[in-house]
Amino acid sequence: MSTRILVVEDEEKLARFIELELKHEGYEVSKAYDGRTALEMAESDRYDLILLDIMLPGLNGLEVLRRLNMEEGRVPPVILVTARDAVMDKVSGLDAGAVDYITKPFAIEELLARIRVALKLYNRTDTNSASGTAVDEAGEQEGVYTWNKLILNELKHTVTYDGHEISLTNREFLMLKTLLANKDIVLSRDTLLEKVCGYDYIGETNVVDVYIRFLRSKIDEVFGIKMIQTVRGVGYVIKTES
Ligand code: CA
Repeated sequence: MSTRILVVEDEEKLARFIELELKHEGYEVSKAYDGRTALEMAESDRYDLILLDIMLPGLNGLEVLRRLNMEEGRVPPVILVTARDAVMDKVSGLDAGAVDYITKPFAIEELLARIRVALKLYNRTDTNSASGTAVDEAGEQEGVYTWNKLILNELKHTVTYDGHEISLTNREFLMLKTLLANKDIVLSRDTLLEKVCGYDYIGETNVVDVYIRFLRSKIDEVFGIKMIQTVRGVGYVIKTES
């Protein structure tokens, strides 16, 4: 049984693009171009995940989400698509029960990664793989993230490389943790900014570049490694070592 995703997006070209990318990944895709149709489809059919744009004609995405949650029965995980800078949308979206959100414009790789994560977290019962229960990748201990000889311990709030302690500010620590917790997912500057500075941060997104530079000078340069990779025009990623 293939995984079914409902894509709700009124920009037909974008909807088509997402559909093609998702099909390429092996998902079964249905599309709706407005909120009312989306709601009807979600009520009458079974989906494993809904990708829901907020700005829709008629019934907007948040309203669709609220109505879905008033229904009886199981609501599939919903990932909201929000416009850039629409801070209130994100907050009320998460309040209304969305499991995640992605900001337009987004890199398709980030969307695919978020979909994989949401499916893994919220559809555990019907996975056909053997890894039913969520053991962290590589069986990592909770709150402990590793890369090469680097160990970040969230509970102790320490970072070491090959036993050498690295002193980081709170935001550098948070930035590093976010990258390590999302290994192989390219995180955009906007995403990193929100994770590190919070929803209400008003300022330049290039503060992200500044923190990355600090991290590199404290870790990559000191230990002669290339941990944090730049993905030109998109953002940053720490890749699993092969
Ligand atoms: Ca829209």
